[in-house]
Amino acid sequence: IVILAIESSCDETAAAVVKNGREVLSNIISSQIALHTLYGGVVPEIASRKHIEKINQVIEEALKQANMTLDEIDAIGVTYGPGLVGALLVGVAEAKAIAYAAKKPLIGVHHIEGHISANYIENKDLEPPFACLVVSGGHTHLVVVEDYGKYKILGRTRDDAAGEAFDKVARAIGLGYPGGPKIDKLSKEGNPEAITFPRAHIAESVYDFSFSGLKSAVLNYLNGAKMKGEEIVAADVAASFQKAVTDVLVEHAMMAVKEYGFDKLAIAGGVASNSTLRREMELACEKNNVKFYHPSPILCTDNAAMIGAAAYYEYLAGTRHGLDLNAIPNLKLGER
Ligand code: ATP
Ligand code: MG
Ligand code: FE
Repeated sequence: IVILAIESSCDETAAAVVKNGREVLSNIISSQIALHTLYGGVVPEIASRKHIEKINQVIEEALKQANMTLDEIDAIGVTYGPGLVGALLVGVAEAKAIAYAAKKPLIGVHHIEGHISANYIENKDLEPPFACLVVSGGHTHLVVVEDYGKYKILGRTRDDAAGEAFDKVARAIGLGYPGGPKIDKLSKEGNPEAITFPRAHIAESVYDFSFSGLKSAVLNYLNGAKMKGEEIVAADVAASFQKAVTDVLVEHAMMAVKEYGFDKLAIAGGVASNSTLRREMELACEKNNVKFYHPSPILCTDNAAMIGAAAYYEYLAGTRHGLDLNAIPNLKLGER
């Protein structure tokens, strides 16, 4: 089964051709990062306009690199939520037009299901059930993948997502958008023990996360240092912040793995490409006899190959959407 997948939920216009869910024949990503950097974050209307401009080109390129014509495609997969509504609509409308014109089945995909499914691409042995920590720009979920397309959310963030915290702290220390990769890089020159930032725990629901207190603590630290005329070592702030986020993520993931007896843990989403998180999680998994899975960095951030992987398993499960498919900006994981 060959799927043409389309992703346009945020600021990446992406298309991919994926065979049997795990073999990527092409993976084209047109990033708008440079454009949004000017504004310090994603501007929704600009994102939509850019998607409209790029989407046909990106799809053509994906088919060309896969050496395929539309005739040889078995189904069209597209992200229909969650995300920016105007951005999602571009991909959804495009996918519907192609499905109609080429008479192919249409499969709407949940963006986070895509992030999770990115793990299937390079880890041919990975099959549910397993635990997955989803850490992206807008989500922080600790998920049990019970089966393909079947999820149970154990914990979620009460406020900021992990990636959002990275982006906000990066802005505060003058690194610019998107902050995650820049904090990751700068942290390598800093001391993660230099500053003690809080690790938030939520008593009544142990798997939930909270990052807004940590973000405030960083801002307070910066303001305090400025007022006292103390030198701010940005690399130390970055490394200490990154360590605080990582500690909580690793701790919660290990807690879940132990309580539920999982022998497999995957991570997903843009923050899953963070080098400290990957290293610490790997160590913790080794210690607990858990097999650790993660996608390559290019498959962690937004791309369409992961949507193709997810769409394949939805296809096998019989999921088909009609030409009335709409964008759902707050789509819940596991909803069809
Ligand atoms: P969502 O998937 O929740 O809808 P999104 O699609 O905007 O949100 P992703 O593309 O999955 O998010 O990930 C982008 C986020 O990942 C940004 O917040 C970015 O700062 C963060 N990120 C990317 N690389 C790294 C890294 N190396 N370290 C930490 N964070 C990173
Ligand atoms: Mg993005
Ligand atoms: Fe994403």
